[in-house]
Amino acid sequence: MSYLKSTLDTIIRKSFYELIGEEIHIDYKESKKYSLCHGYMPKSGWYINVNEELSKAPPAVVEGGIAHELAHIVTEKQYGRALTKLGKLENISRKHKTVNERNTDVTVILRGYGPQLQSYFEYMEKQGSRHRKQDGLSVREVATLLPSGKKP
Ligand SMILES: [Zn+2]
Repeated sequence: MSYLKSTLDTIIRKSFYELIGEEIHIDYKESKKYSLCHGYMPKSGWYINVNEELSKAPPAVVEGGIAHELAHIVTEKQYGRALTKLGKLENISRKHKTVNERNTDVTVILRGYGPQLQSYFEYMEKQGSRHRKQDGLSVREVATLLPSGKKP
């Protein structure tokens, strides 16, 4: 089993139990647009693409990124196609994207992967990726939501 697949399985067993048995493919992909992304294909199920650049990142960083994508998948599975349609609307509504991304990050924190999410955000920041409001919570906001987090 690949490193990514076993990491994915561990996170699902620990915190995303409703996805046990769900078909989710995960692999490294080369991309200039995203660090991680997810999607659904009717014939083969869910997929999570992880930017090849993250193969050099510490495990916590990769775990935080995967947990974020799984939180999206949980919501999309729950709401089915209605949300897929909303997803398309997202492209024209920045406000909806912002709310969706922030809710996704809060889900990750509530399910116990907040510290890893923090590592992921900090890593991306160090790589020079600039945080925009529609990306979700900021590093600082995640920190304030964690029990052990550095308070501003
Ligand atoms: Zn997201």
